[in-house]
Amino acid sequence: MLITLTDSGEAPRLRAWLVRQGFEARSVQRGMGLLLADPWVPWEVRDALAADPAVACLDEVSEGPRRVLRQGPPAPPDPTWELGPVPVIAGPCAVEDPGAIREVAAFAASLGIGWLRGGTDKTRTRVDAFQGHGARAATWLHEAARAHGLRSITEVTDSPEAEAIAEAVDVVMVGARHMHASRHLQRIGRLGKPVVLKRGLAASPEEWLRAAEYLLDAGAPTVAFCERGSRAAHPLKRFTLDLGAVPFIREVSAFPVLVDPSHAAGYGPYVAPLARAAIAAGAHGVIVECHPDPARARSDALQALDFEALGRLVEEVVRLRAALTPEIPLAPRPLRPGSGATDKAGA
Ligand code: PEP
Ligand code: MN
Repeated sequence: MLITLTDSGEAPRLRAWLVRQGFEARSVQRGMGLLLADPWVPWEVRDALAADPAVACLDEVSEGPRRVLRQGPPAPPDPTWELGPVPVIAGPCAVEDPGAIREVAAFAASLGIGWLRGGTDKTRTRVDAFQGHGARAATWLHEAARAHGLRSITEVTDSPEAEAIAEAVDVVMVGARHMHASRHLQRIGRLGKPVVLKRGLAASPEEWLRAAEYLLDAGAPTVAFCERGSRAAHPLKRFTLDLGAVPFIREVSAFPVLVDPSHAAGYGPYVAPLARAAIAAGAHGVIVECHPDPARARSDALQALDFEALGRLVEEVVRLRAALTPEIPLAPRPLRPGSGATDKAGA
């Protein structure tokens, strides 16, 4: 965004205020302008700048992803993303057979969970690892979900069966490894289904937001973001969960943000602590992997929760959610640049 000033003498005041808001502002046009590199400037900041007598005009020079960014005060979430009384989406890493997924669906429903996940086309690191049962597994997933009044969600990859898999389920997911594939995102958007967009393994927030814009631009009716951890330096943690992404997405975007603690942790005992932290950070819900017999899971066995652990996790996050204010308020932006008192970075 280019901020053109009425008086170059006002540049230091405005720049100091913008820096306190977390923006990098570069002086341009002999001090008559300030240039913000960030493509997303929250509407509150834009309004405050527009109302400042020292600001002549505002121009978008680096257009932000418009459909994805919130253009006004927070609105109630799209009912598509209503998870029910339990803010948890649960299910196995992979749908292995019709009986096991029915068992998981029945148990999830008994806990009050409203959404059933399950991988049908698995993108594995090893070519000789279980790759999923494809479209027929999507049908098993959806039928198991429907039998218990749950919604079904599965990842849709670039497989030739992508359309058939998507057709079979309620909600589709873009996996972390496909977040950067813009043609794939367009193909998924054209399916016309709600999409959960996982964050790429090392994606910047801008890349993540712009990936969502690809989906919406191609026809996805709505999206939800899902933080699932970035590459970790530590060998005992599979990925590093970026919980700062939760308030960030809530601030700048019009869409909900979910957290997947299972793929971040990579290890069962770490899943519940990360799930609790995600809910405390304001996540709309968590996506958790579980299995009737984790030791026998054909993918991601180490991180799968058994039914008892899933039950405990649900109890904890429900209790935690109830203890939080219904809508965790974000720190208010100051109304006028220069007032200072309520600036994000403090005094
Ligand atoms: C998954 O949710 O099954 C999955 C593979 O996750 P991710 O794409 O985040 O690795
Ligand atoms: Mn998995």
